[in-house]
Formats: sequence, C-alpha cells, structure tokens
Amino acid sequence: SRQFTRPLNELANQFNTLLSAVAGAERVFEILDEEKEENDEHNAVAVAQLTGNVEFQDVSFSYEGHNGDTVSSISFVAQQGQMTALVGPTGAGKTTLFNLLSRFYDPEQGSILFDGMASISIKRESLRSHMAFVLQDSYLFQGTIRENIRYGRLDASDEEVEKAAHMANAHSFIMKLPNQYDTLLKPEGSGISQGQRQLLSIARAMVADPAILLLDEATSSIDTITELKIQEALQRLFKGRTSFVIAHRLNTIQRADQIVVLQEGEVIEKGTHEELIAHQGFYHSLYQNQNKEETG
Ligand code: ADP
Repeated sequence: SRQFTRPLNELANQFNTLLSAVAGAERVFEILDEEKEENDEHNAVAVAQLTGNVEFQDVSFSYEGHNGDTVSSISFVAQQGQMTALVGPTGAGKTTLFNLLSRFYDPEQGSILFDGMASISIKRESLRSHMAFVLQDSYLFQGTIRENIRYGRLDASDEEVEKAAHMANAHSFIMKLPNQYDTLLKPEGSGISQGQRQLLSIARAMVADPAILLLDEATSSIDTITELKIQEALQRLFKGRTSFVIAHRLNTIQRADQIVVLQEGEVIEKGTHEELIAHQGFYHSLYQNQNKEETG
C-alpha cells in the first residue's frame, strides 16, 4: 500500500527542528534515511545515475480527505536539461506535482517516469539524491555558512563549497561577513537578507550537483541588484539540468523550454511562451494582466 510521508512544504520545518536539535547535519540524514528506508517498497531500487528525462504519464492523485482529484490526468515530458515552468493560480496543484516528483506522495493513477523508470520503483532516498530543492523558504539552519552550503553534499571539500558559492554569486557577500565562511547563521538564518538566503540555497544546490532541480520561485520582492544576482546564479544552476520551476516571474517563464499551465489540478495548456501567446487562451490572459501590472 501507498505510504504517506510529509509533503515537501513541511520538510523545511522538519529540517529546522531536527537541525537545531542535533549537533551535525550527518545525524539528520541518518534519522531521515532510516525513516525513508522503512517506507520504500520491497522491490524499489537505488539508481546510481539519472540523466534527467522525466515523463508524467496520465498522473492522478488526491490528498486524503480532499474531495475529488487534487491533480488529474497530468501528462507532459521534460527532456534532459530542459526547463519546465509550472504556472497557474494558487491551489492549481503546482506544489503537489513537486510532492509527487520527490515521492513525498505517489500517484494513485499513472506514473512519473525517470529515464523510463516509474518513480515508485526507485527508492525515495536514491531518487532525492538526484534532486536539489530551491524553495521559497530555504531551509537554512543554525550553523556556519560553510555547513549550510555543504549540506547539499556532505563530503564536499572547502574548495568545492567556495566554488559553489562563487557560481551562486554568494562569495562576495560571504567574504564581507565578520567570520566569512565560518559565520554562524542565527536561527531561521536571520542576520542575512532574504536575497542572500536565496543565494546560499542556490550555492547548496550547486554543491549537490543534481540532474534534476525543483525551484519554487520567490514571490516577495527583493532589491533589483540582488534579484539580478539570483537570476544569473539560477541560469548557471539550470545549465545542463532538468528543472521544474513554480514560476512567478515573467522572464523565467519566457525562458522556459515549456510552460505547463495548471488550473484546478488539470493541465489546460502547454507549450512555449510564443505558442501559448498565439493560442490566445488562459496563459495569454495571465500574460496580459501581468504585463499591465509590470508596466504600471
Ligand atoms: P499550488 O502549489 O498550485 O498553489 P497545491 O498543490 O499546493 O497548489 O494545492 C492543490 C490543492 O491541494 C489545494 O486545494 C490545496 O488546498 C490542496 N492541498 C495541498 N496540500 C495538501 C495536503 N497536504 N493535504 C490536503 N490537501 C492539500
């Protein structure tokens, strides 16, 4: 039977609670891994490598107690290295697709294929080891900057951590902090700006070097200079990886290889920005409204 574990958006809190309760990040992984190990199906396998071809095949799912399907008959293909933007109103099911991709929940019907293998046939821990999450609420923990970046891959050397920080446009602000990479982040990562927190979470994803990225783009406004640094860092991070982005920013969406438009759990449109504009449907009207807002 299907095992329910915590959804992705609760993971952040879980990490923070655990991380402040124990000494090192390694211990946390052990705790979480033991938990996941129990939940894997007998025949689930670990995969050493993924190229990052992902396919949703007629996927339906509903949360317990949810009336009707939360997401229904979702089908689309994300090819290796491509960026898929998930667009749609609040409650449309975007986060649920992240929960299914990362096996916090499993489809009730249909399959998500990773390089042709159904997600449920891959051990959770193994599947997630090929993914990095850059979420709105980046789960920074009480520890040094270095530890927070290294959390992406625990055996990364100091050089690798610093290289990742460079790539993520985080190095220069880190070097201005009192103890640089050894600066202790306060609880909830306070003491640095929200934009800087995002740069650190990008650095963490860089160090993890995954085939697949799940990004929940921040909605809150960040100063223009930091925003540009974030966008540049994200473009470096996306290069050569399959990425899924819950997209709020028009320039991200326009850059995507494909846009999947969700409404009430269904894919109502998909295609490139140009295709969807030409189609003159839901996306087209979203675009016109957002354009009006952005141009005042
Ligand atoms: P989006 O990310 O597009 O805003 P979600 O995937 O978060 O949408 O939510 C889709 C629907 O599923 C919403 O109706 C939401 O209330 C419901 N939902 C989300 N998470 C849960 C959960 N853990 N348990 C029950 N219902 C949920």
